[in-house]
Amino acid sequence: MIDLTNAFTKVYSDERTQDAIVPAVFRRIGMHEFSANSDLMSNSKVASVSMRMPGVPGLELKTIETSATILQYIRGMARDKSSRGLKEFTLEDGKAIARRIVPSIASAESCVSCHNKLLDGDVYALGDVMGAFVVETDLTRPIRLNALFAVGAFFSVLFASLLVIKRENLRMQNVVNALTGRVKAESYANFLASHDSLTDLPNRKLFLERLDLDFAKFREKTCKNVIVAIVDVDDFKLVNDTMGHDVGDALLKEIGAKMSGLLTRYGGFTARLGGDEFAGVVTVCDGGLWPEDLGSDLLDVLCVLYECNGVSVYPKVSIGVSGLNDLDERGPTQLLKAADVALYASKRKGKFCASIFDDDLRNEFGRQTYLTSVLPRAINSGEIKAILQPQVDAKTHELVGFEALARWTHNGQSISPAEFIPLAEDTGLIGYLDVAVLKHAIALLRQLVTRSERGFRLSFNVSTKDLQTDDIVKNIRDVLCSSGFDPQLLTLEITESVFLEDWSSARRRLDQLKNLGLKIALDDFGTGYSALSYLTQFSFDVIKIDRSFLQQLDEDETRSILLSHVIKLATNLGKTVVAEGVERSDQAVMVAELGAHVLQGAHFGLNIDTAPELLLRSSVTHRMSA
Ligand code: C2E
Ligand code: CA
Ligand code: CA
Repeated sequence: MIDLTNAFTKVYSDERTQDAIVPAVFRRIGMHEFSANSDLMSNSKVASVSMRMPGVPGLELKTIETSATILQYIRGMARDKSSRGLKEFTLEDGKAIARRIVPSIASAESCVSCHNKLLDGDVYALGDVMGAFVVETDLTRPIRLNALFAVGAFFSVLFASLLVIKRENLRMQNVVNALTGRVKAESYANFLASHDSLTDLPNRKLFLERLDLDFAKFREKTCKNVIVAIVDVDDFKLVNDTMGHDVGDALLKEIGAKMSGLLTRYGGFTARLGGDEFAGVVTVCDGGLWPEDLGSDLLDVLCVLYECNGVSVYPKVSIGVSGLNDLDERGPTQLLKAADVALYASKRKGKFCASIFDDDLRNEFGRQTYLTSVLPRAINSGEIKAILQPQVDAKTHELVGFEALARWTHNGQSISPAEFIPLAEDTGLIGYLDVAVLKHAIALLRQLVTRSERGFRLSFNVSTKDLQTDDIVKNIRDVLCSSGFDPQLLTLEITESVFLEDWSSARRRLDQLKNLGLKIALDDFGTGYSALSYLTQFSFDVIKIDRSFLQQLDEDETRSILLSHVIKLATNLGKTVVAEGVERSDQAVMVAELGAHVLQGAHFGLNIDTAPELLLRSSVTHRMSA
């Protein structure tokens, strides 16, 4: 392990002349593993003598230490006996040297005597530092290897770290993605719950929340008014039916976007309430906007030409507007209801206009609220009754049947069906009302039949809304069973609006009623849009020409040509044509000549009670012809 190549130094003789104790140097070079000699390194006293002393005594005296630094250090060590040596790492001549210098102490008498003998004098005493072990290791190569290894390791670690970082990044990204996904999913779910999926506009729920907030502003006096507008697309179902649902959907999106654009300019909020109905709310802070302005602006902005899926559509809308100033009882629901009342006022006025909830409408609203509250009792108690309006043969003017029409007299005041029928429809009472009127009409007719000794046809009206429920078929069947009335004599009248609702389910019920033996009449024919096409959609037995047709006969000759063709067409299709609203004898003659089969109207009496002679005449005619 220890190679004694250079053992002694000339230092000795140099120092000696100066009469100092000069140690020799035991240079021991070539130890490959510095640490492997830790015993020697750390504690020279316990190291064996052979290790501390050269193999041949005195050999050290002949060695020469060339390193000035080491010499200087050994000299210091020799002077200070308590020195424990030196442990250093230095760079020398481009080499990395690990060096340990340990004092060589004269620990045995034999050493002292031997050395003194060789030196020819009492140079050393026991315990003197006689020299030093210099143990050096060239660490250049291992360091280089280590460095290489370290660099390799460094890059491996770096590479591994990069991989780890990448993997962690990926994981993190996945976590972030998952979280983002969840956040997105949650916010999307929230969005869906509060927005309409077709137009992406807020839905009714969100609209009501916004209305509450705007009301809070009003109460806190941070705004002067809150204006609500409801927009309903006129005859939207026709767009769907004639141009397709894609075009209908695209139109709703466009209208929603246009309305939202306008309302946003006012700092307002737009929502789709459902179907073809939109609502907007604006808070007015500086008094610049009035309900009338909003109504007319909406008409201007919305009623324009749209390009929807390559189809040009020019829709019309009805609008109802209400502002807080217009209400006695202030609350979001009332404000919305008021806008709704105004919207229906627009519809009643003939659509394509905007109505404001003003004093007149407020009175009407109050009246409607009142009538709605007393309507159920009026139906149940028989306050709403039927009258029988005569229908006569167009040629002979002989009485052939009646139309049952509802009449309501409340507190001595007569209320028009035009007023209470829509209320009954809105409150879902129309089914009961229609059946109550039918029952009463059958009872009235019974009395007439016993008087006239013959059977008459009975027409009765059902609302389009009735045909949206299965109750109608069951209820009519029940009435037929309980009254024993011949279903072959019964005609159900339905208006063209049935095509604007869920036609397929309405059609199914109409088929069931036809199977019971009833005849089905298409009422108010000619007031709708594609009236002729409706004729092909169901096998109506009767077509009732609307009275507006007869009124127009006076105004324009082309009307009579049109009416004549319509009557011919219906007749050719095997339908019975009834002309209603015949008020004068010349009208009766004219429509009879044009081919109508049955006539009805003021000319023949609006109510059989007020024209009993007709009944008498018919019974006489009947008896004569029998
Ligand atoms: P409608 O079914 O078209 O009934 C005909 C309406 O025209 C009746 O008005 C009738 O009185 C009126 N009328 C008939 N001939 C003439 C005439 O020569 N001159 C004038 N000026 N009017 C004439 P009414 O009774 O006010 O009924 C209005 C509408 O209310 C009815 O129109 C019908 O749609 C609805 N209605 C009436 N009774 C019922 C009912 O029991 N159930 C349902 N669902 N609707 C009903
Ligand atoms: Ca009718
Ligand atoms: Ca009618």
